[in-house]
Amino acid sequence: MSVSLLWFRQDLRLEDNSALAAALARGRPVLPVYIWSPDDDGRWARGGASRWWLHHALESLRRQLAARGLPLILRSGPAARTLLHLAREAGADVIYCNRRFEPVGRDQETLLEGRAVSSSIKVSFHHSTLLFEPETVMSQAGTPFKVFTPFYRNLQARGFPEEVKVAWPSLPPLPKVPDSEALADWKLLPAIAWDQGFYDFWHPDDPWGRLTEFGVAGMKAYSEHRDLPAEDGTSRLAPFLHFGQIGPRQIVSFARRLGAESSGAPFLRQIVWREFGAHLLFHFPHTDTEPLSEKFKNFPWKRDETLLKAWREGKTGYPIVDAGMRQLWQTGWMHNRVRMIVGSLLVKHLLQPWQAGADWFWDTLVDADLANNSLGWQWIGGCGADAAPYFRIFNPVSQGEKFDPDGSYVRRYVPELAKLPSSLIHRPWEADLFTLRQTGIVLGETYPAPIVGLTEGRDRALKAWADLKALGVD
Ligand code: FAD
Repeated sequence: MSVSLLWFRQDLRLEDNSALAAALARGRPVLPVYIWSPDDDGRWARGGASRWWLHHALESLRRQLAARGLPLILRSGPAARTLLHLAREAGADVIYCNRRFEPVGRDQETLLEGRAVSSSIKVSFHHSTLLFEPETVMSQAGTPFKVFTPFYRNLQARGFPEEVKVAWPSLPPLPKVPDSEALADWKLLPAIAWDQGFYDFWHPDDPWGRLTEFGVAGMKAYSEHRDLPAEDGTSRLAPFLHFGQIGPRQIVSFARRLGAESSGAPFLRQIVWREFGAHLLFHFPHTDTEPLSEKFKNFPWKRDETLLKAWREGKTGYPIVDAGMRQLWQTGWMHNRVRMIVGSLLVKHLLQPWQAGADWFWDTLVDADLANNSLGWQWIGGCGADAAPYFRIFNPVSQGEKFDPDGSYVRRYVPELAKLPSSLIHRPWEADLFTLRQTGIVLGETYPAPIVGLTEGRDRALKAWADLKALGVD
């Protein structure tokens, strides 16, 4: 009897999974598989934090499948070749999968489809990672959107889709179960234990625990709390969404079920920002490394490894920036407001290319996502779609004072400043000698002096911007 091969990708869940629903509905034995293919990913092979998450997500998927009496076969190698090989070995004649919309995912699909034809194997594509497939969302002029608000309105007018129901019929058993590689052999977990803090911050096998903890109350209070990094005011669902352990349709259905679709609208709007990121990368696939705005190709960045190292290590001398960079290192995540502040200091005051920031985030975020990361960094760099103009420069001191007024966030991640009074916590260089001595701070020794003067950095950034305009490329 022919078998249905089910290829899990960024859809690691058993509910609201269109490819799974279709494979089960066919009524033949189903063989689930995950392919580890870092070579396919090339420049965007998963970073360390993302690999950590993937390990736990796969463990969890394996357990859920086992409870349904199904194995999860793990294989490594180029996806198209490895899948077709496995399909022949298992006697499968159809491969079911959900589409991925980044360039790497699309390349895999094209290759698989091309090769499958000559093997007489059918590939059945579905979609579950977004609310809408990006090619179905176009402006009235028939072009992709580059501005968020009309994109958002377009999606709202269509109505957000409900989750897809997965029915589990009783299926005939697999004629044979092919060998699986061992997850531990993929060495996704770090050899040096830098991940201790991750376990305190995350339960990567429990997306629903996180969603219900955030819940309707979190959605309703979102606007009020979302910008305060010391609070648990955002959902922290991003890694679950990236790996597809929960899908955007499920979040919409959850909000609807609990009557929070309109009161939770500001939160659901962020889910649409995620769609917007995917839409942009789909239609402008070069924007993972190049600016969407052509004029920025000539921007006079001044790459400097010493500055980059200080920024990565959270040693810039700007407390809110250092707190954010250390939160990222300790937990694999950084609050969105702080992502914007650390990014602004990097690309504006320090004149470092946004791509260098994006690379570091790629390696250290558990929610590293090519579309959202490219969108976020180009937004900060002023060179993306609907971006903050380059000349609008965040002041890390006033941002800190506004969004972390009593310094709780800084105290948590920069303990060497913890004893400073709130009036000085975001500007320790203004403390008098007595206060510094009392609080055990020696600037330049226990905590760095500012890496760049705020006025100096701002003037330099504005000059670079003016030079770019003088080139006549505005
Ligand atoms: P919530 O505030 O609870 O939002 C809910 C969900 O909406 C998020 O989980 C996410 O899927 C989506 N979302 C929220 N804000 C955005 C946004 N601005 N753009 C796109 N989607 C959004 N997000 C990633 O998922 N991966 C990244 O690699 C990533 N890199 C970023 C880099 C920079 C420089 C910036 C400024 C933002 C980046 N973001 C990225 C967007 C945003 O910071 C995170 O999605 C958010 O902080 C995740 O936390 P949360 O799940 O609590 O979000």
